[in-house]
Formats: sequence, C-alpha cells, structure tokens
Amino acid sequence: MLIAANWKMHGDRAFLTAYFEGAGALSWPEAQTHLVFPPATLLERAAEAGAAVGMVAGAQAIHPARDGAHTGCLSAEQVAEAGARWALLGHSERRAQGETDLDVAAQLEAAARAGLRGLVCVGEGLAVREEDEAEAYVLGQLAAVLALPAPALDALGAIAYEPIWAIGTGRTATPELAQAMHRALRERLEVAGLGGLPLLYGGSVKPDNAKALLSQPDIDGVLVGGASLDITAFNAIARAANE
Ligand code: PEP
Repeated sequence: MLIAANWKMHGDRAFLTAYFEGAGALSWPEAQTHLVFPPATLLERAAEAGAAVGMVAGAQAIHPARDGAHTGCLSAEQVAEAGARWALLGHSERRAQGETDLDVAAQLEAAARAGLRGLVCVGEGLAVREEDEAEAYVLGQLAAVLALPAPALDALGAIAYEPIWAIGTGRTATPELAQAMHRALRERLEVAGLGGLPLLYGGSVKPDNAKALLSQPDIDGVLVGGASLDITAFNAIARAANE
C-alpha cells in the first residue's frame, strides 16, 4: 500500500518542522510506504526529517534534460541530489500548463537516469467523462509511457488515477467508478507485463472516504493533496487502509 502526500505550493520551514514532529508522534500502519512531495525548496529538509519518521521524499516535477537553459526548472539529478527518491510526473496541474504525454514519457526517462521512481498521474476532465470517453482518454495518456523500453519503464513506480473533476473540488469519485478505471488500467498494465504496479487513486481523498476507496480490489493506495497538509488527517487516511 502506497500513501502519498502532495503538498503542492504549500508549506514553509516552520510547517515542515511541525509536520514531521506530528508524524513522529503518531503510529503508522506497517506494510505501507508513505511518500511526501513538498515544494522543491523544502525537499532536502523533507528528505532528512522524513527519513527519521519513515517517510520518503519526492519531487513534484522534473525537467527531462540533465541540465541546460531551462530557467526555473529542476532536473532529475538535481532533485535526487536534494534527497528525492520519487518524482510526480504528469500531475494534472502540470498538464494544464502544457505538459504532454510525450513530455511525461521523457520525464520518466530522466527519472530512470537519476535513479528515481516515477509516479505517473493520469485522469480525465469533466467533459471527457460526460462524453463517456474517460477510459480511452486515460489509457491513451499512458500509451507513451508504456511504449518506453527498459530501463526507462523500470523506473515506473506507480500510477495515480486522478479525475480532474475530483481534484481539490471536494467531489470524490465513487469507489465503484474509481475501481472501474483502476480495473481498466490494471488490464492494460497486465498486457505490458506490469500487472503488479501499484495503482493509486487521487481526488479529494479524506479520512471519511479513504476506507471505501482503499477497500476496492484494484486501489493500492492514494495520492492526497489538500488533506495531506494536516498530518493527523493524513495519518487517519493511512490507517483507514488497514481498517
Ligand atoms: C492532488 O493534488 O493530487 C490531489 C488529489 O488533490 P486533492 O486531494 O486536494 O484533491
């Protein structure tokens, strides 16, 4: 079970200190991996403080290139040096800024180069869902990634299904809807020989809906945005997986 916190553009040093102190005072289920994706400025500190409480740090985004004239960007090597072990790839808030499926595939190649695990995010917008095209759309987002040869594909650590209409809106996909998409993803991954890859759900996950989502057979974890900023709520989500 993989339980991941995406802080997005939230948090400062004081927040980080309180967060990991809080994490250390709580008990966490065993047989789970807990990931935290802080803003890049906090990555190094999060990697250190997270290690002390069993949480693994990751970068929210990486650039495909190793270095170069890319103002404001960070390479996989740079975030790895700062302590990242994972990278979020293709979050919908990044795709909304213009990242394409091919960019996401190139980022996974970069992650592999730097020894990072990639957590690739996919998910449809409301119009696609209403046109009944969600499954084809989401599987299409994965195609460029799954077309990569080893060793790039070996760096694929997990996939998060995050319907855009459920992110930060308070509107969660029903467990049945999420399970149906996860089943479709699993079947596609099985064809690629990756049937065991963890499939996370993301989109307004909270302590009170986590159990119903995490008890679905093809939901292997969650990627949590807003609720992950409260360490007690994030811990309750992790514990819900074992209830
Ligand atoms: C996310 O940022 O990936 C996310 C799922 O956000 P939220 O939980 O706030 O919907």
